[in-house]
Amino acid sequence: MQQDLPAPTHCATSLDGPQPAERPPIPSIDRLLQSDPLRALVDRHGRVRVRDALRERLDVLRARWASHPASAFDADTLALGLGHALDAAAAPSLRPVANLTGTVLHTNLGRALLPEEAIEAMGRAARTPCNLEFDLQDGERGERDAHVEALVCGLTGAEAALVVNNNAAAVLLVLNTMAARRPVIVSRGELVEIGGQFRVPDIMARAGARLHEVGTTNRTHLSDYEEAIDARTALLMKVHPSNYEIRGFTAAVAVERVAQLARERGLVSYSDLGSGTLADLRAWGLPHEPTVRETLAAGVDLVSFSGDKLLGGPQCGIVAGRATLVARLRRNPLKRALRVDKLTLAALGEVLRLYGDPDRLAARLPTVRLLARPREEMAGVAAVLADALQARLRGSAEVQVVDCASMIGSGALPVAGLRSVGVRIVARGSRRERDRAAVRLLVALRSLPLPIIGRLEDGAVLLDCRCLEDAEPVLLSLAALGGEA
Ligand SMILES: *Cc1c(COP(=O)(O)O)cnc(C)c1O
Repeated sequence: MQQDLPAPTHCATSLDGPQPAERPPIPSIDRLLQSDPLRALVDRHGRVRVRDALRERLDVLRARWASHPASAFDADTLALGLGHALDAAAAPSLRPVANLTGTVLHTNLGRALLPEEAIEAMGRAARTPCNLEFDLQDGERGERDAHVEALVCGLTGAEAALVVNNNAAAVLLVLNTMAARRPVIVSRGELVEIGGQFRVPDIMARAGARLHEVGTTNRTHLSDYEEAIDARTALLMKVHPSNYEIRGFTAAVAVERVAQLARERGLVSYSDLGSGTLADLRAWGLPHEPTVRETLAAGVDLVSFSGDKLLGGPQCGIVAGRATLVARLRRNPLKRALRVDKLTLAALGEVLRLYGDPDRLAARLPTVRLLARPREEMAGVAAVLADALQARLRGSAEVQVVDCASMIGSGALPVAGLRSVGVRIVARGSRRERDRAAVRLLVALRSLPLPIIGRLEDGAVLLDCRCLEDAEPVLLSLAALGGEA
């Protein structure tokens, strides 16, 4: 609500005070606010914001006129400047951008795009009261995760599941619940840093668990796990290496073997899958990633994974597995601190429901649709984009449609690139000039009304068209581009 505060009286009096002869008279703030050009601004931005901006602007004008005398005070010019400043301040900080990086699940660009069903469900949950923690049958308090638990169990074969704010929170909750002050055995080859301050050893320390590293960076054997187990050991943990791959002379212990060892020794086994997909990606010609169902079927007690990576849903972390263990996680007070809100649950429920119909998943879930996008479609968009860029850059650069490789992102299949089509823009001139021009063009593209985010490759700007489904807004935005390259 806009508060209608009376303007402090000292403003008017200070303005009406004695002024040097060369300074044109400035009307009082109250009178200016009544004038036509400023009334329009008040309608748009509210009186308090306009008054405060006006006061600041007049202070600047007065200071400037003290050294540079001006001829007249012009309310229209003043209103125009104020209008621009107020519009800019009112613009949301979180803005749409065009993701032409080629990375489908780009963490810095918000990861998964939600399907319409999920967006509508979030709108409903936001607009009206809902049965978030309310059992409609007996009128008693319900459990918020119950809205998605059966769906997760149906899709993964888990006995029970819960949802927290993200997968980092899921790892924290599992380690804190299962292994506070006790050793957790992890292979040295899996002590990963995912980025954005998520490192397995650090999260382990914050969870109050003791890291017991076994094996070496490139090779870990079952005997390494066996020999490390002692009376204090709480957990055997596997971590999906996510954003890198160890190649060459390597050995890792299969998740089945680790799960079996844990069972034999009365320990809990846990796999942090990272992306953790619910569908077999091979159905869309993509390389295989371990699914949550496969991992649980291998005998692992608990699995955790992200909601907004390959799953293609809202930001959250899901833990699925044995009912007794999930019940322990639920009783940890940390669960309350890490819980998700109704919007997340509403969106997640809809995304999970789409998985019930795998045949139509690629048509309905944006993440899968973008990952499985046919080459002709990307080539079509790239051709249109190349034409528009050619016209804008007026021969100062060479614009070509090229084959390129894009990434899934967020740690899924880090090495396998997806074959994509993009537009390559390379300036004319020496190598140095080309590099500089490419950086300038990237900056210019980012400053457009709809910022276009591309990538630098080999002294050229590459605009990967994998994630560009609707070219229209990008073409409109390009109209504002000068001949930067
Ligand atoms: C991405 C990832 C995480 C963190 O998941 P967020 O949902 O981003 O918090 C944890 N572990 C692994 C292995 C990951 O790949």
